Amino acid sequence: MTYVFPPKAPTTLPIRGSGRVFPINRVYCVGRNYAAHAIEMGHDPGKEPPFFFQKNPDNLLPDGADFPYPPMSQDVHHEIEMLVTLKSGGDNIAAHVALDCVFGYGVALDMTRRDLQGQMKKLGRPWEIGKAFEHSAPCSELVPTDQIGHPAKGAVWLKINGEMRQEGDLNQLIWKVPEMISYLSGLFTLRSGDVILTGTPSGVGPVARGDRMHGHVAGVGDLRVSVA
Ligand code: MN
Repeated sequence: MTYVFPPKAPTTLPIRGSGRVFPINRVYCVGRNYAAHAIEMGHDPGKEPPFFFQKNPDNLLPDGADFPYPPMSQDVHHEIEMLVTLKSGGDNIAAHVALDCVFGYGVALDMTRRDLQGQMKKLGRPWEIGKAFEHSAPCSELVPTDQIGHPAKGAVWLKINGEMRQEGDLNQLIWKVPEMISYLSGLFTLRSGDVILTGTPSGVGPVARGDRMHGHVAGVGDLRVSVA
């Protein structure tokens, strides 16, 4: 078979302490997974079923890169999140075995054109233009579970220009990682290379050109990206 043009190589993320890279398949994101963030966005923090949206695999941006301020928005927000990456998948995965699918963890930003997302919400339209744009998912290197296990508590924070903006703890996740994987696998066939952004704590807000963002997830690592 001959391609009519050369297919794009997969987007990859580096793995700490390894010369190997992790190829990305799908990028799932969980909405409103910290009560304090649900409240700041004007929603009831009760435990409703989780909901998901997706970004494109080639929306990822590596640690240390510049995040170009995207077009068509005057209100681009940061959302710091823990990233879960899968080495295996399937359908209807039970929560008690779901962690067996996890390859490792990372630190990610779910960059959001909040003004466009807000317009789409109001019109009952899909969120892609607010969420799934170029470079909208900066991600750190990945740390495999054989180095750190499965972090379930510890600080999640984001500083901008050295000033604390978002602060939460992994133990505040409404839907825990095994529950997220289990629920998602009932909707989609999960597979190796899939990644999940697990939701953001409160304190989301706008970024400006020149801002230096520094995200941290305790026991996982750091992510540093500047707005260009
Ligand atoms: Mn998010």
